[in-house]
Amino acid sequence: MNAQIKPIVATAGFDPLNAVLAKQRAAHQRQVPGYRQRIDDLERLRDRFKSRLDEFVAAMSADFGRRSRHESLLSDGMTVLAEIDHVRGHLRGWMRSKRGLADWLFWPATTAVRYQPLGVVGIIAPWNYPVNLALMPLAAAIGAGNHVMLKPSEHTPRTSELLKSLLAEVFPEDRVATVLGGVELAAAFTELPFDHLFFTGSTEVGKRVMAAAAKNLVPVTLELGGKSPAIIAPDYPLKTAVERIAAGKWLNAGQTCIATDYVLLERAQIPMFVEHMRDYVVQRYPDLANNPDYTSVINERQFQRLTGWIEEARSRGATVIELAAGDAARRILAPTLVLDAPDDCKLMQEELFGPVLPLVAVPSVPAAIDYVNARPRPLALYHFDHDAVRTESVLERTVAGGVTVNDTVLHFAQSKLPFGGVGPSGMGHYHAKESFLTFSKQKPVLYQARLSSMALMRPPYRTLANLLVKFLTR
Ligand code: NAP
Repeated sequence: MNAQIKPIVATAGFDPLNAVLAKQRAAHQRQVPGYRQRIDDLERLRDRFKSRLDEFVAAMSADFGRRSRHESLLSDGMTVLAEIDHVRGHLRGWMRSKRGLADWLFWPATTAVRYQPLGVVGIIAPWNYPVNLALMPLAAAIGAGNHVMLKPSEHTPRTSELLKSLLAEVFPEDRVATVLGGVELAAAFTELPFDHLFFTGSTEVGKRVMAAAAKNLVPVTLELGGKSPAIIAPDYPLKTAVERIAAGKWLNAGQTCIATDYVLLERAQIPMFVEHMRDYVVQRYPDLANNPDYTSVINERQFQRLTGWIEEARSRGATVIELAAGDAARRILAPTLVLDAPDDCKLMQEELFGPVLPLVAVPSVPAAIDYVNARPRPLALYHFDHDAVRTESVLERTVAGGVTVNDTVLHFAQSKLPFGGVGPSGMGHYHAKESFLTFSKQKPVLYQARLSSMALMRPPYRTLANLLVKFLTR
């Protein structure tokens, strides 16, 4: 048996998963897809995805109960098409080996870094942007020449079925396979001896995924969540800050990993913040309960979680401000501000992942930095400030997965920026060139020359070796 072939570990009850993995690994060992093949793959994926985009928008809307068509087209349509285009446009350059001279001591040897597909990659996607978070990593993994097993979320069943159908139309099963199922299947999936496992989801499940992957020493990329703060400097135009926080927060009804989770601002700013936000919601979402631009909470469990946490905060003395009328029957939860929530209530401890926004009074920007630093490292951080020195101090003193200054969420959409969390908000990156690197082995190679300078350093060590050693350890 080839020493490089990983044994297929039996996973109780889910032998079909092992069978698919074995098929994909065999295909990988038969032939590594070259540049032309990868470009063809990406082009077919783009064409079929584009022609079925309306089906995806309808499926996501049905899965959520109601989902903004425009937001689906932008956040799950445009982003995926742009990522495929970005990979296509840069692939030739990314794939090229980087040749160079060896360090001078080893001249005339030369070196190269080669980029090799890892093999079979597992991708697990969550429900909140069910197309984006499945197809963006998938396009990158395919561009890097891998085979992919995808497990989308059971909470968006129509969208997951459609993903399976799309991918089966574009790829043979030994290149891309989609597996559908619940938590048991998800857990079995993480036990497979992949060459890499790419997981997007919550920090809690991320811990389980990493523990399962560790059994086979499968390397992981974990794109997780957390509480992402926004800090507003006292002299920053408040209306602008409110509008930009609102645009990122009410998008997908707050069910966005990098949505602002809470806002840090001076107490004197709070009344105007509330008024500006009320104006924003009234103007942007008239008749919210029947407004097609505002999305429902995904399911009853998530709706109950959010309303339960709001009620807990209210019962413990917080002020809850609902900015419009929602509709519980259709899981439409109105944009809600919460003031003075106790620090130990669920709203202030857990990632919100819904249209609820606590405002936290702090005396100054340095106090806001201390507040952030006393908590787990967030996936995103937003700072609103025109003072360059103060902005620099926030960037310097806080650690977050990514930052947008004077706006929210937009760093995610940049084709030149890597994306990923830090510590409890994740590990590893994708987007930009990092997508290619995440799914490639950077293989270093040294090419020795016919004549090797190393011949000067062989025993028995005499005068020349003494001189060389003396020089090298000077
Ligand atoms: P989740 O409960 O952690 O689920 C994520 C994925 O893991 C789903 O496909 C889920 O399957 C699967 N899963 C569930 N239990 C599992 C287990 N024991 N082993 C392996 N996989 C398992 O997260 P979610 O509620 O879908 O998504 C919300 C979370 O994801 C939030 O924390 C959010 O911040 C985070 N998120 C992060 C990013 C990012 O880019 N960093 C992006 C989006 C979301 P089922 O759904 O079928 O149960």
